[in-house]
Amino acid sequence: MLDINKIRADFPILSRTVNGKPLVYFDNGATNQKPQIVIDAIAEYYQEINANIHRGVHTLSQLATDAYEVSRAKIQNHINAKFAHEVIFTSGTTHGINAVANGFASLLKQGDEILVSAMEHHSNIVPWQMLCEKTEAILRVIPMDENGELIMAEYNKLLSDKTKIVTVNHISNALGTVNPIKYMIDKAHEFGAAILIDGAQAVAHLKPDVQELDCDFYVFSGHKMCGPTGTGILYGKEDWLNKLPPYQGGGEMIKEVTFEKTTYADLPHKFEAGTPNISGGIVLGTAVDYLNSVGFDNIQQQESELLEYGTKRLLEIEGLKIFGTAKEKASVISFNIQGIHPYDIGAIIDKLGIAVRTGHHCAQPVMNIFCIPGTIRASFSFYNTKEEIDLMVEAVKKAQLMLS
Ligand code: PLP
Repeated sequence: MLDINKIRADFPILSRTVNGKPLVYFDNGATNQKPQIVIDAIAEYYQEINANIHRGVHTLSQLATDAYEVSRAKIQNHINAKFAHEVIFTSGTTHGINAVANGFASLLKQGDEILVSAMEHHSNIVPWQMLCEKTEAILRVIPMDENGELIMAEYNKLLSDKTKIVTVNHISNALGTVNPIKYMIDKAHEFGAAILIDGAQAVAHLKPDVQELDCDFYVFSGHKMCGPTGTGILYGKEDWLNKLPPYQGGGEMIKEVTFEKTTYADLPHKFEAGTPNISGGIVLGTAVDYLNSVGFDNIQQQESELLEYGTKRLLEIEGLKIFGTAKEKASVISFNIQGIHPYDIGAIIDKLGIAVRTGHHCAQPVMNIFCIPGTIRASFSFYNTKEEIDLMVEAVKKAQLMLS
């Protein structure tokens, strides 16, 4: 069991007010809050060891390099990657997906197929469309049902020997659905296709085991798991990362450069051109340590109670409809109130200190399926409480009264 008051005290922002009211932060799906230990670690890096990495012989450069590589090893351990060099630092999920999609341009030919799910974030749609434009490969969409669950029978029908890569999120940001990724990974492999898992929404809630999953790529962002913005990880199996060409050229990613020919560095450096977000990479390791110290069992227990309570309380509101009612769901509730635009509710409850996301959540195809312009999304973290849910419900009721 979590000592929720102790946990909340770790997050300084949670004790501030917004518009004169105590902050209720339910926009964790967009980015979650940072504990003091993470905030301190950023300052400590710049105060103590700031230097460029992998290039200096001087002490600070060595200290910074060591801290960066220690963080890589922590993340390797956290996701259970076989090798540290399979863990590539990126600026976030979007960067990771683009790196893989760009690499596949050299492997695809006209008529090859890419399968993408109907509930993807734009970051996991657009790079594949760009790849299709380059290669004349075809993008096919795995449909979902009215509960927001992917239809596995349709997935199985879409898979064929033309399928070269499948790409799907672990957890949907718009609906909260937890997708059956282990099943999807095994099926993709039966057809010799690679599979990328977009773990952007998953890593705050669970600890992915990439070897057990046997996925080819797993990408995520640091800022959604209590880490700094501008950080992320592209995990790729060694064979795949060796096969793909580098995404960007520049310093750090080379073995030797001449005007005739350049040879590339070994993994992971081949995919890490230029000076990275050094403090961010180091502090991502601190965030992972923090989450593990809270414990993912505790996180999941707290979040599933919040999901259950939040669903029950919100459904007491007349005319409220929840989008995304999958059996396996993370602590995300996307909803609308009949006759009221989601933006109007979001703007009014902000005045009462409640931060939710409104709009299409970068998943316009999901909104199109439900024929709605967007939703109000409350996404809970382990540091949220049932009392905060009560405040949100009261605020939504007030907004409904004002707007109807
Ligand atoms: N994929 C999913 C499922 C997301 O929720 C997000 C962000 O909300 C992204 C990808 C993109 O992440 P980032 O903007 O950190 O690159």
